[in-house]
Amino acid sequence: MIGILGGTFDPVHYGHLRPALEVREVFGLTEIRLLPSAHPPHREQPVATALMRARMLELAIQNQSGFVIDTRELDRAGRSYMIDTLKSFRLEFPEQTLILFVGADAFKNLTSWHCWQQLFDYAHIVVMTRPGVQLQELDGYFAAKKANGISELTQAPAGKLFFQPVTQLEISATAIRQMIAKKHNPGFLLPDAVIEYIKQHKLYES
Ligand code: ATP
Repeated sequence: MIGILGGTFDPVHYGHLRPALEVREVFGLTEIRLLPSAHPPHREQPVATALMRARMLELAIQNQSGFVIDTRELDRAGRSYMIDTLKSFRLEFPEQTLILFVGADAFKNLTSWHCWQQLFDYAHIVVMTRPGVQLQELDGYFAAKKANGISELTQAPAGKLFFQPVTQLEISATAIRQMIAKKHNPGFLLPDAVIEYIKQHKLYES
């Protein structure tokens, strides 16, 4: 089973890393792939370049077994649509169960993603709880896809929806960028090596 966690990672922080580690263990994933998005279609464009965001991910996960940085969205021109990403994963791993992990805030916007219903043809979707984000009752489409236990996800390569509680860390990249712009110390919200990189490159200072 392979896990996929897409994001802008501008910058990566413990609110990404701790839940990623937890779901890797809970779902017994062979690996969790962290995918920086080149041109996220649903939001403001990132502050740091794609290469810098990938480098910060590298610094964050050094020596963490089972964590892989996947740059396929950076190597592709144009907007980073998740559906294209999942199609490319499916070509590479025809037999594997794939799980796309999204935070609760991302799940709330899922129906605005390009070809969102097709995502389930290629992967399961697992929603990770996130502080401050309340999920409403599922509509019929999602309710029909909902799995009651992890074992249901192991029985098919794709197609199910599942909700996974993770340690609640009220950390966001936006708050970290604002903190740095105000010259406040973002220590203990993200790895020291990433903070060092941000300082060296004077990122997020204005
Ligand atoms: P920004 O504040 O710039 O919007 P972010 O902190 O939300 O960034 P992203 O890179 O956009 O980070 O997030 C990538 C994925 O990780 C999304 O699915 C998001 O919901 C999830 N995520 C981010 N932070 C957390 C957190 N603290 N807890 C759980 N999931 C998170």
